Amino acid sequence: MLELRPNCECCDRNLPPESLDAMICTFECTFCVNCVGNVLGGICPNCGGELVQRPIRPAALLAKYPASTKRVLKAEGCAPVRAA
Ligand SMILES: [Zn+2]
Ligand SMILES: [Zn+2]
Repeated sequence: MLELRPNCECCDRNLPPESLDAMICTFECTFCVNCVGNVLGGICPNCGGELVQRPIRPAALLAKYPASTKRVLKAEGCAPVRAA
């Protein structure tokens, strides 16, 4: 089950469970759509995997299986993708 982390690892912006701006990789590294598009180039900076939109958990199930409240933030921030 997804943790549904509460923030973007790059900019620490809040990403509530119902946010359509949350993107995740297969390890559930979590970023906002702005960082993914403008900084990361669609690739997770931690594992190199693709980032896709995080699915929205239905509200009834969110009450039963709440989202994580543990914030994860990259200490060094996210470096912009460099052209090869
Ligand atoms: Zn962000
Ligand atoms: Zn990742």
